[in-house]
Amino acid sequence: MSPPLVFLKRNGGRLGISTEALRTMQSYVQREPGSHEAGGVMIGRYVTGGEDIVVDLVTGPLPGDRRSRFRFYRSKRSHQAVLDREWQESGHTRTYVGEWHTHPEPDPTPSTIDLNDWRRRVQRDTFHGEELHFVIVGQTHLRAWEMTRNSSCDLRLCTGHLQVEAVLDAKFLNV
Ligand SMILES: [Zn+2]
Repeated sequence: MSPPLVFLKRNGGRLGISTEALRTMQSYVQREPGSHEAGGVMIGRYVTGGEDIVVDLVTGPLPGDRRSRFRFYRSKRSHQAVLDREWQESGHTRTYVGEWHTHPEPDPTPSTIDLNDWRRRVQRDTFHGEELHFVIVGQTHLRAWEMTRNSSCDLRLCTGHLQVEAVLDAKFLNV
């Protein structure tokens, strides 16, 4: 696996994030005092027997989203249209693997609203596998979590966090 950023998952698999996905997310870092939160879905594929996942691309803010300094609410329809298109065009390999959004803080931590939203998504959303992945892009750090359907206290910090500025320069995060 050779994406520029790789997180270790609790099941031993890895979550890789492609350069293209990182570029999109980094373009929405909330550096300016008035910049609003951004986010979208993470679209990826299962590799190496299904344990490793590569996020190939992410959607950015789309029509119907609601954005403010401290909130991002993603519309369902416009992001689903991108998911459907990618699923078709990839020959049914690229699929929904999680969500990302930005925070106006250097090193991001999920808010209570985020955690409730993530729990709802793993319970209600349709996806392959046992868990969904969540990325928060802070002003200096990017972090990732995963959450499973079955456990209620199931937030898991993956290993690996990098300076947002350094992500694209990093060759491998050796896990
Ligand atoms: Zn948040």
